[in-house]
Amino acid sequence: MAFSNLDQPVQFLKGVGPKRADALARMGIGSARDLLYHIPRRYDDASTITPIANLAVGVEVTVIGRVRSKGVIPTRTGLRIFQAVLEDDSGIITASWPGQPWLDRKLTKGDVLLASGPVKFFHGRQIQPREFITLSKDEDSEMGGRVFVSYPASEEVPQWILRRIFESNLNKLLKWVPDDEYMSERERQELGLPNLDEALSLIHRPGNLADAERGRRRLAFDELFHLQIVQAQARRKATELGPGISHQRSNEFIRPLHEALPFELTKAQAQVLSEIYADMQLDRRMNRLLQGDVGAGKTIVALFAMLLAAEGGYQSALMAPTEILAEQHLRQIHSLLQPLGVNVVLLTGSLKGQKRDQALKAIESGSGQVIIGTHALIQDSVSFQNLGLLIVDEQHRFGVRQRMALLKRQSNRPDLLVMSATPIPRSLAMAFYGDLDLSILDELPPGRKPVKTELRVPEQRESVYKFVRTQIKEGRQAYLVYPLVSESDKLDLLAATEEFERLKLEVFPGSRLGLLHGQLPASEKDLTMSAFARGDLDLLVATTVVEVGIDVPNASVMLIENAERFGLSQLHQLRGRVGRGPAKSHCILIVEPEGRASERLNIFRDSTDGFEIARADLRMRGQGDFFGSQQHGRDPILRFSDLIADEDLLVLAQKTARKIISVDPNLEHIDHKRLSELIESRYQDRLAMFGVG
Ligand code: ADP
Ligand code: MG
Repeated sequence: MAFSNLDQPVQFLKGVGPKRADALARMGIGSARDLLYHIPRRYDDASTITPIANLAVGVEVTVIGRVRSKGVIPTRTGLRIFQAVLEDDSGIITASWPGQPWLDRKLTKGDVLLASGPVKFFHGRQIQPREFITLSKDEDSEMGGRVFVSYPASEEVPQWILRRIFESNLNKLLKWVPDDEYMSERERQELGLPNLDEALSLIHRPGNLADAERGRRRLAFDELFHLQIVQAQARRKATELGPGISHQRSNEFIRPLHEALPFELTKAQAQVLSEIYADMQLDRRMNRLLQGDVGAGKTIVALFAMLLAAEGGYQSALMAPTEILAEQHLRQIHSLLQPLGVNVVLLTGSLKGQKRDQALKAIESGSGQVIIGTHALIQDSVSFQNLGLLIVDEQHRFGVRQRMALLKRQSNRPDLLVMSATPIPRSLAMAFYGDLDLSILDELPPGRKPVKTELRVPEQRESVYKFVRTQIKEGRQAYLVYPLVSESDKLDLLAATEEFERLKLEVFPGSRLGLLHGQLPASEKDLTMSAFARGDLDLLVATTVVEVGIDVPNASVMLIENAERFGLSQLHQLRGRVGRGPAKSHCILIVEPEGRASERLNIFRDSTDGFEIARADLRMRGQGDFFGSQQHGRDPILRFSDLIADEDLLVLAQKTARKIISVDPNLEHIDHKRLSELIESRYQDRLAMFGVG
């Protein structure tokens, strides 16, 4: 890639020596470009700043004030508190920093601070700043039209240093930005976005808050667009390069299954099926994501799709994330297909000896028409006679690589349908699965009894246990779920294990309890789960491993401890485990009654719509957290965009990207040279993940 001045190490910028460069590197800033894209975390102007006289106790505020006096006060507990009296035209207030006596050396009388934090009452009103910046001494006098920017800072590189680095370098950096511009003037105007250099200038030195937002939208578009380009390439590679299978529909199996079903398909199921049929009949590979809420009836949809493949003489495979789920699918599907004379085969890892040989033979000879299995289907020893359709259930449990591995080995180009029971907002699906076409099951079959959801505090635990005992007495079963933040979080695991002992000995003596968590060997998990499914256990004490797909209609209680620690979508998955049988079902959340958690949980209690819950979850937790920290970590793909606020940009980005890739798939045109270079340098690893490049 052509070298740009922006690629040079920050170390060579004014005011950054080798030592500071190291500190910046620890914040993820290595090059001049990284610095330029280190954008302010917040903006303050006259509209966000409160005159000191108007500060009300209990409110989060931002103030600007001059330090009138200051000092460290000791307390009886040994805690040392730095205090400064801040003054503006309207009045004075004490600012207090408990435990930070060293600030006494940093601040001097006359300094002008911009500080934000809560106002408390403590011998009078005082503000306890969570963060502050020191403005230059004359800044407060020209408050009028000014906007103050605060950058994400670190202990090593505090706010004032960052601001100074920008002050001495921003003009120069901005001059280099046109090197990075990848859009033509005409394209840019069609999209209604500012130049890249204008955008970055607006971001770092906005004249007003609307300017800053205009600049941000340009960066947001860029990152969404680049990701969509990568996905449009993957989509083209998957669907358009080379012919796919054009499945032939005869209705030989589809019609009798319709007649045999004990229920009507929902409107959503019929709609989604017509999308899938149409796609499968095209001479192009299907690459489709089917999203549906828990219990929306995805399995039946999958089954019809598999029958379409069978009618034209093709095999199909349904891959589930666990053996229990594979067996569950098998039971449901086998009973429906046996009367039609369609041959169903199961292949899982625990299948051994003669049974396994038989299954492999049926897959290889083509006598197995519908194949249901687990990861075992991916192994090299499995060779299909003519796989025409692969369906991946609960797709977030599999990597893209795994489904690619299976597809690559086939001599033809089978259609792909991935199914997900984690309803994610359309915008999120577009951003992260832009390579897939989207079908959505947004309707539950009629007659479902809603699960009654209740919030309880820990003090009410005994009465909750009592309720669970009466349910067990009536022959029902219950799940008790404990949080497990990540696999390595031993503390939480201990909680589930310890609780299991306590519950067994003290709370439910005489009942049959099982323990299920992620660190047990797979075989033991399967044993426990099948025992619960058979009704040989009354109570299942578990972590979130019960979240996915399991169907035990006799279970009527889902009791979740520390519910505030779960995402709403995760809670929704858990709640979906009950309410599957004739009995009235209950989801009881035990919650530490603190903070904002209960606002989230109230939304969950009052809604049964997985998509609505997912949107609320995304809004309240932010997209970084949405998938859990493990998946995106500290380097989120999307830094500047907000998938709720920027949905219009996302739609625009996808449309633009698909249009470009349809005419210039490898970005070889001279107009796309810079775009191609930028994407290659920024998304190298993602390109591999999407199977492009
Ligand atoms: P999920 O989408 O969570 O995988 P399933 O496919 O397991 O849901 O379906 C849940 C239950 O709903 C199954 O018992 C299934 O037989 C039933 N079901 C599916 N479609 C319908 C329908 N249209 N009407 C009534 N029940 C249905
Ligand atoms: Mg399912």
